[in-house]
Amino acid sequence: MRLLLVGALILTAALLLASFAGAESLAPNELGRVMILEYHKIDYPEERWTRTPENFRRDLETLYARGYRLIALGDLLDGRIALPAGTTPVILTFDDSSPGQFRYVEENTAVEIDPKSAVGILEAFAREHPDFGHAAVFFVLPAADPPNRLFNQPAYAGKKLQFLASHGYEIGNHTLWHANLGKYDEATVRAQIAGAQQWIQRHVPAYKPRALALPHGVYPKDVSWARSGSSKGVMYSHDAILQVSGGPAPSPFARAFDPLRLPRIQALESELRHWLGYFERHPGERFVSDGDPAAVTVPATLRGRVRSDLQNLHLVEH
Ligand SMILES: [Zn+2]
Repeated sequence: MRLLLVGALILTAALLLASFAGAESLAPNELGRVMILEYHKIDYPEERWTRTPENFRRDLETLYARGYRLIALGDLLDGRIALPAGTTPVILTFDDSSPGQFRYVEENTAVEIDPKSAVGILEAFAREHPDFGHAAVFFVLPAADPPNRLFNQPAYAGKKLQFLASHGYEIGNHTLWHANLGKYDEATVRAQIAGAQQWIQRHVPAYKPRALALPHGVYPKDVSWARSGSSKGVMYSHDAILQVSGGPAPSPFARAFDPLRLPRIQALESELRHWLGYFERHPGERFVSDGDPAAVTVPATLRGRVRSDLQNLHLVEH
């Protein structure tokens, strides 16, 4: 009995210390960098472009335990980061609409989201940890060869895109079939992008993707072709263009923030470990929210790196 009590006290003390240490180390710094993680297949076995469902779930647990919280890409672009003080935004992106990202399974007469697909894992994690957030961008391929054509269940393609659009997720443009945009003329580049949007809108009327993820990370000869325009009467306009690598993104409040050149981190074991470790060792480089979406809190020493057009800038000494 006595031993149990002592054990419980030690455990309580350890938990208190752990939470105190976490809170203490994370002073607000809204000029810190933000990780945009890039997933491809969620499937077996684990390899260069594949993360297993178990490892993906573990990534979410690790991020959550280290004070990261999900935000939508659109919120980053709008500079609207509504997170509790002391937490760090992170963005999840999924490229290529492979089957393991979003699968429905038929159980007798009911249709359910496969709990081992990325969306199933995200939904379950959000139910268990409502404060983790509920967001991810899916850069889909509407006209690729199977299995990458809209998650490879043609009968459910519309149901999936509608689910994403209505449950806090975002749908992004990744061209019709993963075209290398550096190889084509302007008309073809625009047709690829407008055509992909048109396909998305066939399933989710009027949906406008705000971001394009570059297939193979290759820009068209002129970046303006990817940014906005039209083809065959379909108009598109992107607020962001995402690359395939490059590390953590600058804060949206930093001068260095360039939404047409947003870097990402490929979600491989080695990259995740590297960057999570990096921010543990360099907590001052991590974006840490001040808890007030209307104010931008920045250490006074970093003032010179702040965008010049910011309202409600709050400089702190620490
Ligand atoms: Zn891709």
